Amino acid sequence: MSKEKRALYIIFGATGDLASRKLYPALYRLYSKGYLKEHFAVIGTARREWSDEYYQNIVKEAVDSISDSEADAEAFSSHFRYQSHNVNDSEHYHTLKNLADSLDTKYDIQGNRIFYLSMSPNFFGTITKHLRDQKLVTENGFNRVIIEKPFGTDFESSQHLNNEINDSFDENQLYRIDHYLGKEMVQTILALRFSNRLIKESWNSDSLSSIQVTLSEDLGVEERGGYYDKSGALRDMVQNHILQIVSLLTMDEPDSYTTENVRKEKLAVLKSLKRPNVAEDFVRGQYSFSDNGNLKAYRDEEKVSADSMTETYVAGKVTVDTDKWRDVPIYIRTGKRMKEKTSRVDVLWKKTDQQIFDEGDSILTIHISPDEGIELQLNDKKIGPGMEIQPVSLEAMRSKEMLKARPEAYEKLLLDVLNGDETHFAHWGEVAASWKYVDFIREAWNKDLENIPFYTACSMGPKEADDLLAKDNQKWLYNPNK
Ligand code: NAD
Repeated sequence: MSKEKRALYIIFGATGDLASRKLYPALYRLYSKGYLKEHFAVIGTARREWSDEYYQNIVKEAVDSISDSEADAEAFSSHFRYQSHNVNDSEHYHTLKNLADSLDTKYDIQGNRIFYLSMSPNFFGTITKHLRDQKLVTENGFNRVIIEKPFGTDFESSQHLNNEINDSFDENQLYRIDHYLGKEMVQTILALRFSNRLIKESWNSDSLSSIQVTLSEDLGVEERGGYYDKSGALRDMVQNHILQIVSLLTMDEPDSYTTENVRKEKLAVLKSLKRPNVAEDFVRGQYSFSDNGNLKAYRDEEKVSADSMTETYVAGKVTVDTDKWRDVPIYIRTGKRMKEKTSRVDVLWKKTDQQIFDEGDSILTIHISPDEGIELQLNDKKIGPGMEIQPVSLEAMRSKEMLKARPEAYEKLLLDVLNGDETHFAHWGEVAASWKYVDFIREAWNKDLENIPFYTACSMGPKEADDLLAKDNQKWLYNPNK
């Protein structure tokens, strides 16, 4: 049976950075693998006045480094049309509908539509309402909406946004992107946990000492200062990516691997997050300039207020308040301008009860990016006389060739949307529970806008983040400073 799918994409924000960097390459890969072939078309819309030809050239450029041949890129981009569009103007949706209908006929798409909202969330409500009212939603095919982050700035705004969108589309038509959920190694978490008795049976508070999630970036805010200064690391990274990863690390085994069952278990975790003692359990920080003076302080970045109190770093102890997890601290941290760019999970086992040997740590590391793979540190016996123990590392890292061949997160997620598979997207219930947790921390911080620890650019964060673990006799397992 052919794997080819039929779909008309309408991308709002088609001139943007995300569209060029991620969406066009992802669509091209689906095209070159035969998921999209003859029966697809893309309408790009944004404010700028572009011709179809100009747009098709932009698309060709975006896929230049990955296309099989120029002719292939040409054939792919011939399915793209551009429509200049002001999202607030009803008239423009009529024009859009006519174009969509004619492309549907031309490519025999049979009514399947995917609306990609790749622009500021302020517009999502307006766009979805117009799509429904101006009848861009078809009767004969599927209609799916892909929504980019951020989904609101707190629980209240996200609920408002959700209500607006729900006036026009049902939850099962919505695909809220959290690109971490499309990453190979994030998806691997459930495979590791539930298909290895060795791991599954000891993944609990009797055996585990701590779980640590690190999402560190080496870059500063770059040109996103205006957005970031209003957001901060807690909203930008913890509410979505980190809490999603925590839910995968601690959810109960679903009855079966279906969207509904996975979501049910993830939601149960997110709803049982214990409200932290913020002063004790959470640390924020902001980067100052680097030791050698080459890197700017956050407050000197473009579009950032000179007395900004926005956190560019968060570390915290998250507690899942269930019998199974209450006693296992889950330490999280994320920040900009840190020493290294890495996303990883480190899981530390407790030492054995009797400890007849001088044992070291047993650690499972899930490398999410840029390296991908798993690493298990165990205690081995040193070769030779006596019973000296030494650590040994078993590694299954993805090779360069494997990384080159594996689908990128956006490609996988876009394929899921084509297949109507919502497993790797954030459900409203999860978003709501995460915002409530994050709002609680934000509110505590808002009461003290005088003090924020600074950390040197190119370090692993403020000293307070080390103290946080030291209080529990723990330490960060990943420490590139060492
Ligand atoms: P961008 O600023 O580069 O592009 C925004 C797009 O929206 C442009 O095409 C612009 O023309 C269009 N637009 C703005 N106002 C409009 C209006 N009134 N009418 C019609 N079009 C209008 O933004 P981006 O980086 O491409 O990001 C798009 C969305 O994706 C944002 O919600 C962002 O938060 C999210 N996102 C981006 C990235 C990324 O890596 N760029 C990562 C995660 C999430």
